[in-house]
Amino acid sequence: MGNVHFFLVLYTGLFALAAGRPYPMRRYSREVYDNGRIFDITHMIGPNLPVFGSKNGLGHDYIRLVESIKNGSIVNQSEMKLNTHTGTHIDSPGHVYDKYYDAGFNINSLDLEVLNGPALLVDVWRHGNITAEVMKSLNIPKGVRRVLFRTLNTERRLMFKKEFESSYVGFMVDGAKWLVENTDIKLVGVDYLSVAALVDLLPTHLVFLKSREIILVEGLKLDNINPGVYDLHCLPLRILRADGSPARCILIK
Ligand SMILES: [Zn+2]
Repeated sequence: MGNVHFFLVLYTGLFALAAGRPYPMRRYSREVYDNGRIFDITHMIGPNLPVFGSKNGLGHDYIRLVESIKNGSIVNQSEMKLNTHTGTHIDSPGHVYDKYYDAGFNINSLDLEVLNGPALLVDVWRHGNITAEVMKSLNIPKGVRRVLFRTLNTERRLMFKKEFESSYVGFMVDGAKWLVENTDIKLVGVDYLSVAALVDLLPTHLVFLKSREIILVEGLKLDNINPGVYDLHCLPLRILRADGSPARCILIK
């Protein structure tokens, strides 16, 4: 017992020493807050983030300082230029239905109640694409309204690979239909840049977004989180005429 205490003190001491090294102001990004109560499930927007269909990733041009203290300004101020489907983001019905886009069913029309509340994280990594059969086998109880699907994409760390990977998995159109017809799910979260498998890209989006009741969250960061029920909070930016938006998504235990 005494030994353990000694080592703890020593360890803490070393840690304090390490913290006293140069650059004490440097902060590293974190994934877990409040001793494991809050999990950030948002991918960091940065140069190596994959972009749908691209070999090169996001690159460096998404942000630049338009005013800089180093150049004599009194503040640093940056400007962003981003596709609305960058990284962890949300699709609105107007993304795939032009009539909905014209009628204002864009990112501003999404129901914040759906985007915030209890959510189930399920592992589907043993399967490939999410078909009707896979959906059936998951036995998601009626009444569950938000589900985050962790697939092989997380296992393969695809969101950490700059080059777009066309062999990602996602919903097949029959899986989407099954979900719409047989469950109460109103929020569908996935772990790569599209909710739909590449072969069923548009049809799957059309099935999910037709009723304007289902919200799609794409590009979630679901590694190192145990399956189960959490409180999900997902907030897209409020931008007029945007068909989608990057979002900050978190899970709370
Ligand atoms: Zn999207």
